[in-house]
Amino acid sequence: MIPLSEYITKRFVCFGIILFFALQVKGDNLLISILGEKTINSLSVKITRGAYSIKKNSSIYNLNKGDRLKIRSGLIVSLNDSVGFEASGFELIGHEYVNHFEILTADGHTYKYDDNLLVSMLTGEVQLMNRVDLDHYVAGVVEGEAGYGLPLEYYKLQAILCRTYGLKNINRHKSQGYNLCDKVHCQVYHNKCKKNDIIKATAATSGLVVVDHDLNLINTTFHSNCGGQTCNSEDVWVRPVSYLRSIKDSFCLGEPHSVWKKKINKEDFKTVFSKNNPIDSLEFDSVLNICQDTARFPHKKIISTKLTRVRSELGLRSTFFSIEPDSNQLLLFGKGFGHGVGLCQEGGIVMARKEYSYVDILKFYYNSVFIVNQRAILFFKE
Ligand SMILES: [Zn+2]
Ligand SMILES: [Zn+2]
Repeated sequence: MIPLSEYITKRFVCFGIILFFALQVKGDNLLISILGEKTINSLSVKITRGAYSIKKNSSIYNLNKGDRLKIRSGLIVSLNDSVGFEASGFELIGHEYVNHFEILTADGHTYKYDDNLLVSMLTGEVQLMNRVDLDHYVAGVVEGEAGYGLPLEYYKLQAILCRTYGLKNINRHKSQGYNLCDKVHCQVYHNKCKKNDIIKATAATSGLVVVDHDLNLINTTFHSNCGGQTCNSEDVWVRPVSYLRSIKDSFCLGEPHSVWKKKINKEDFKTVFSKNNPIDSLEFDSVLNICQDTARFPHKKIISTKLTRVRSELGLRSTFFSIEPDSNQLLLFGKGFGHGVGLCQEGGIVMARKEYSYVDILKFYYNSVFIVNQRAILFFKE
C-alpha cells in the first residue's frame, strides 16, 4: 500500500494540471432559501447593479440598475409601478459580470444579494431563494461568521472552511428543493459581502476545500475559544473523528473568551449529577473535586454524567472548569467558550496576527488534513 504522502506527491503534477483547468471554469452555483423565518406577503426588489431579465411564457421583461419590482401574495408583479404580470413563480436572472439586487420587506428591512432571485408561492406566502455563485455565498457567510477587522490570512481560513461546509452539506435541504438555508441550521447568510478584504480572501482561495486522509470533505466544526486545550470529537459527541483530536493551544490564552467565573448553588449542581442516577454524599464529594487547572479531563464523564450535559443544564460557557466550594455555593473557574472541538477561532486569529499562514492554522487545529481544489477530489479518488 502506498503511504498517503507518496500518493499525494505522485499526483502533485497531475493535480497542478487539474487545478489549472479547474480555475478556468466558472464557479458553481448554490440555491439558498432566504428570509424563510419571515412571513412575507409583499416585498419590493430593486436592481442595484447589472442587467436582469424575467422570462414569463413567451415574454421577456428586462430590468436594469434602479428598476423596481413589486411582489405581493398571489405574485401580482408590477414593474416600475406599471402593470406587470401574474405568476405562481419566476426567476430574476442576472446577465452582466456582476449583478446584485436589494430586497425591501414590509417591516422596513433591506437585504442585499448577489446573482439571481427565485420567487414562488407556497402555502399562501412568498418564498424566496437566491441562486448564487459559490464564492459570493462563501464571502457573505464569512462576513456574518467572522466579523470585521481581522487579518486577511484568517479570512482565507474561514473562506475555505465555509466553502467546505457548504459543499459537504449541499444536499441538506434536497427534499425541500434547495441546497442550504440561510439560518444557523446551515450557515448564517443574510447579505452579500460588502468588505473588500473578505472578497479578496475568498477569491484567493477559490475552489479550495479541506479533506481528510480518505479525501472526504471534513466536518469544519469551530468554537470561540478552547481555553488552552481543544477536545476530541468523542468527548463532546459520540464518534471519534481522525482530524478532530485534542491539542494544547497557547495562542488563545489571554483573549476575550479565555476564562470565565460563575457562582452556582450547590444543590443545583447536585441535581444535574443525580438526575438519572441518585448519588450519595461520598460520590458528590468526589464530584466537587473537579479540577482542570492545567488540562481538560482525559475522559468525558464524571460519575456517568456527560460534561456536555452539565454544561448545557447549568448554562456554562465550557466543560473546562475547576470547582472551589464556598459554603452553600460553588465557585466555578472556567476556561474557554464553546464546545472546544476543531478550530479555536480566537487562537486562529492570534496565529494569523503572528503571520502564520492559513495552511499552518488549519493544520494546527485539524489533524492530518489536506487542502485541495474541490474539482480535483474526484480525480484523486479515482
Ligand atoms: Zn439549513
Ligand atoms: Zn484555543
